[in-house]
Formats: sequence, structure tokens, C-alpha cells
Amino acid sequence: MVKKQLPPLVTSIKSHKLQEINYAYQKSISYSQMSMFNKCPKQWQLQYRDGHMENTSNVHTVFGTAMHETLQNWCDVAFNQSVTAANKINLLDYFWEAFFKDAKKNLTKALPKEEFLAVENDVPTILDYFTKNNGWIFSRGNKKGGKWTLVDIELPVVLSPNFNYSNVVYKGYLDLVFYHERSNQIKIIDIKTSTKGWNKWQKKDDSKQAQLLLYKKFFMEQFNIPMNNIEVEFIIFSRQAKENPYSGAKTHVETFSSFAQGKNKINKAWKQLNNFIIECFETNGKYKDKEYEAKPDKWGCTFCPFKDNKLLCEVGVSS
Ligand code: SF4
Repeated sequence: MVKKQLPPLVTSIKSHKLQEINYAYQKSISYSQMSMFNKCPKQWQLQYRDGHMENTSNVHTVFGTAMHETLQNWCDVAFNQSVTAANKINLLDYFWEAFFKDAKKNLTKALPKEEFLAVENDVPTILDYFTKNNGWIFSRGNKKGGKWTLVDIELPVVLSPNFNYSNVVYKGYLDLVFYHERSNQIKIIDIKTSTKGWNKWQKKDDSKQAQLLLYKKFFMEQFNIPMNNIEVEFIIFSRQAKENPYSGAKTHVETFSSFAQGKNKINKAWKQLNNFIIECFETNGKYKDKEYEAKPDKWGCTFCPFKDNKLLCEVGVSS
């Protein structure tokens, strides 16, 4: 097969040499850590600083991983071979193989039967919906004509966000990155899975948007690309169909990018991250030696692995 000629920017992104993290004296941080710290600093302390690395996998995380892999593989084949080839993939087989592989690796006990049955019922409908409605991947934002190139899947960004804390290194992976050469536009997509989709409060949640806004900032810095040439977008796959309140049409896939993505919002996201760094690390990269506040809450404690361990967290709310 003739190898496709990649646009120069894509070649340059693909050949970028990443900063290496030396775990002997550097700490790696992520959006998940910051998000956990914002919800309950004590949980972050127990899990990341004190090393009580409890297994937090459950049916939702295994479903999410398998769905990511299935969709990313579809995009890989669609963009690097052809849409026809991608549409010939048996997505259901691919999903279950990824699901059981991740379940075997990460679940410490068997899935409750009713949880598994719920996923088993929902998956064929979601994948069938995706197969019949995937044209939007190619058409969106393509006003100037020309084609989108898939730059990468799980593209890593690795950098020190605050140069006064150079041993604290942010590491993240971008689910899907596309490039539209004619408009010189990059699109960064984060895939989310959810039971019922996102409601308007979830869409307005700054902490959810912060993840993509930070990715945008780091992508700009790592690859030296102007802010206006990068768009970020969530694609939300919901297990239960969501009804459009205006048309009544039901959907399992929703895209969401209608939030401010400019300098102010990026700075706001960066401040959240910077606050996390300053609260948790010394300037040499070592963890701060202090006790962090616990924020018990019925919903927040639900998925916390320490909620029933009174030795580690006295105030956790058991379900
Ligand atoms: S059980 Fe609740 S309060 Fe305790 S660490 Fe976990 S989230 Fe925080």
C-alpha cells in the first residue's frame, strides 16, 4: 500500500521527543489527581501521597476503557485505511474482547450479575447507533473543504506546568487528535462514557472543562501552536439513550464544545492546577508533609475505596 504523505505539522508532532520523567526525584501528576484533590484532598493524600493504591476499577471504568479502545480502533482504521474497512469491523466482538481483557487485569472480584447484564444490554445499541451515525466525524468543522488527518491516538503530553516546580511533571494522554491542513486547525477530542449522558449542570462544570482546557494549553506549549488554531471537544457516549427535548430524537452520542475555550478560561483551569501543585508539593518536587482535609459527602464517598476503612478515614460516608 502507498504510504500517505502526512502534512508537515503532523510529521513534526509525531516526531516530537517527549520530556522524560525521572521517578527517582520527579513526581508525575495528572488531571485525575487534581480532580480528586479538589473533591476530597484526603482521598488524594491517601491514594497518591501515602501510597494506599486501592484498586478503584468497577463496571463503569471497564466499560469506559473498552469503549475507548473500540472507538479509537475504528478511527485508526477509518483514517489510516478507509471508512469501508472500518465499517467492516465487528465492533461488538472488539468491545467484548477489550472489556474482558481489562476486567481480567483490573477487577479484583467478579462483576455483580445485574451490573454486567445492564452493560450487556446497552452495548449493542450504542455500537449499532455509532455504526449508523459516524459521518459527523468526517464532516464537522470542515468548512474549507479538504480532509482531516488523524494525528494520533492517546497522544502524550508531558511537561512541567510551573517552572518553579520543575520536578512536578504533568502527564496526560489525548484520546484523539485531528488536523485539518487547509484551515490549519487542530482538534483535540476527549471521549467520555456515561450512563445517562451529561446534563446541563455537568456541561457547565468548570472542573470537567478544565481537563480539555489544560490539554489545549499544554498542546500549545509542547508543539508551539497558536491558541486560535486549536479546538477542544468532548464526545459523550451514553449507555442509555438521551432524548433531544426539541426534536424528540434519541441519541447515544453527543458532542460538546460550546464552552469558552479562550485565554480567560484556560488561565482559570491553569490556576486550579497550580493551586494543586502549590498545596501538595515543595519546590524540589517532594510531597508536603501535612494532613489534608477530608470532605465527606454521600455522593463523593460512593466510589472512594477508603469509605469503609475507619483507620484511614474516620469520616467517610458508607453506602
Ligand atoms: S471516604 Fe469520603 S471523606 Fe474519606 S477520603 Fe474518601 S472521599 Fe474523602
